[in-house]
Amino acid sequence: MTDDLTSLPPCPLCSSPYTYEMGALLVCPECAHEWSADASDAPETSGGSVKVIKDAVGNVLADGDTVTVIKDLKVKGSPTAIKVGTKVRGIRLIEGVGDHDIDCKVDGFGQMQLKSSVVKKV
Ligand SMILES: [Zn+2]
Repeated sequence: MTDDLTSLPPCPLCSSPYTYEMGALLVCPECAHEWSADASDAPETSGGSVKVIKDAVGNVLADGDTVTVIKDLKVKGSPTAIKVGTKVRGIRLIEGVGDHDIDCKVDGFGQMQLKSSVVKKV
């Protein structure tokens, strides 16, 4: 499996192409330099601009997705609840109040915010 060598970056000190991985570190056999291969990967938690929102079963949701409600949801000010299986089209991901991270329009109820934990992607 010598192909693996080509996918690793060369040593930043001596430019040796014969670097290899040792755990989370990259190691140069020629000058014995060790460095972290992850240094260039920005941690997802630091920026906050790209927030992954997942549905109840772990599917990643995106703007415009269609989802179904997986449990009855009481609606404030409405005598009826949103029923299990209600289809919601064209969701929009938001940073809402509390755990509410979906903005959508539910037939018969109008515009509202839902939690991604109570929906499932269709
Ligand atoms: Zn080196």
